[in-house]
Amino acid sequence: MPDQPHLVGILLANPVDRRLMADFLKSEGYRVAAPGQDHLDSALRGGASLIIADILFAHKLRDQIHVLKREASPVFLPLLVLLPPKVDSTPWLNAGFDDVLREPLTKVDLGARLRVLLRLREQSLELARQSQAMFQTLVEQSMVGVYIFNRDTYLYVNDALAQMAGYRPQEIINKLKPLDLVYPEDRPLVQNLLEKRFLGELQTARYRFRGLRKDGSVKHVEVFGRPMEFRGEVVILGTVIDITEQVAAEEKLKLYQKELEKLVEQRTVELKETNEDLEAFVYSVSHDMRAPLRGIRGLAEALQQDCASNIDQTGRRYLEGITASANYMDMLIEDLLAYSKVCRSEIQLAPVSLERVISDAIALNGHDIRSKDAEVTIRGDLVEVKGHYSHLVQVFANLLSNAIKFVPANQRPTVTIDAKKQDEKILITVSDNGIGIEPQNFDRIFKLFERLHGIEEYPGTGIGLAIVKRAMEKMGGRCGVRSQLGKGSQFWVELPTSPEY
Ligand code: ADP
Repeated sequence: MPDQPHLVGILLANPVDRRLMADFLKSEGYRVAAPGQDHLDSALRGGASLIIADILFAHKLRDQIHVLKREASPVFLPLLVLLPPKVDSTPWLNAGFDDVLREPLTKVDLGARLRVLLRLREQSLELARQSQAMFQTLVEQSMVGVYIFNRDTYLYVNDALAQMAGYRPQEIINKLKPLDLVYPEDRPLVQNLLEKRFLGELQTARYRFRGLRKDGSVKHVEVFGRPMEFRGEVVILGTVIDITEQVAAEEKLKLYQKELEKLVEQRTVELKETNEDLEAFVYSVSHDMRAPLRGIRGLAEALQQDCASNIDQTGRRYLEGITASANYMDMLIEDLLAYSKVCRSEIQLAPVSLERVISDAIALNGHDIRSKDAEVTIRGDLVEVKGHYSHLVQVFANLLSNAIKFVPANQRPTVTIDAKKQDEKILITVSDNGIGIEPQNFDRIFKLFERLHGIEEYPGTGIGLAIVKRAMEKMGGRCGVRSQLGKGSQFWVELPTSPEY
């Protein structure tokens, strides 16, 4: 129940009716405001709990009904219109009046209706009170700062916000300007965003800035505010959180990241230098070994030819051994030089015709293909790829050479080169009907000098696939193998197609 009796506003033009109504209402225990026609506004805004208007006043009220209801919201303000007999009530109810009283009035009916409508008002008041209390507790106890300000000053701040800024709420409310709590350097940014919201150009805004505390220290904050109408003016209502620790952590992280990047960069340079040194070493040793090797081969040949009569069969076997070893060493040097060339070269990628690459790789293996009667089939789209011509020829020449080589002696080598376009990539497989590879060796065979067989069985240096891998990496591609022991192998390489450039 209210602290004092309800105030009922009577807007009746006829003074007699007005008095009768006032007397009746007073006898029912209500307070009455019956200001007459000229004081319509004061009756409306004088805190009435219910308003009874006759048809004349009701006409005047029609345009204001929505404003009245909005101002009273969320509390229910019952508006009754008193109509002469036979006047249609529908337009009035549609216009926003809550009930219609019809002349002649009976005291019992009027009293009952007023009680119902005022009870509804009471309930809405209680609900509003409860929700306001809840909201107030929530805001006041919130660990998040809450503020309301207009252009000039703070209209409300909760304890959390005041504490963040190092003040008491009453030192801020109606005393400080919004920008007083902003670090001077960040004021233009905040001012600009505030202006946009006051002008309605920006609805919500969420941003960070440095807050200025009472003692002059700085706190990093993040605010989320929106403009709204409050007591007839545009204000900004928002929340603030203290992100000082988060910003410090972020800055530390950035610093660590920078240090880490520097370290990685430094290590990469060191590693590159070491690699380059090693590659230069391999190159120069291989290169320098060629001349003495040529000498050994030449001398062995000269011995065989010029001194044939002085050498017995054992001596000739030794000489053949020397020549075979020298030939193997020559092959090793050749392959090592090719490997170090792939590693050391700075290449430019360009569109390359796969058709030309494959046909050159086949030509390079021409001798073996003919001597082993190998069958080589090409399938698929030999389109243009993005790559490096001589690297690509080397890759396919090596894969083809292996596909012909690692086949049982009594079997005709059958090789299929297949190219398949997949999105912006092209996958080329070189499949053979050879001896196959056990899965646990798939990675191993791409390493330098790794071989799965003795050179007597299958000659080779163990460098070919290492060249394939490095060359593919240099061209931004990938390579690998699928195989089963005894069931042939499929070596694959993947490259981007050329239209990407
Ligand atoms: P190389 O052919 O000179 O021995 P690679 O680096 O080209 O050296 O190959 C490394 C090893 O991988 C070979 O020694 C062989 O054991 C295995 N390998 C390569 N290609 C095939 C293949 N097509 N079929 C079976 N084994 C293969």
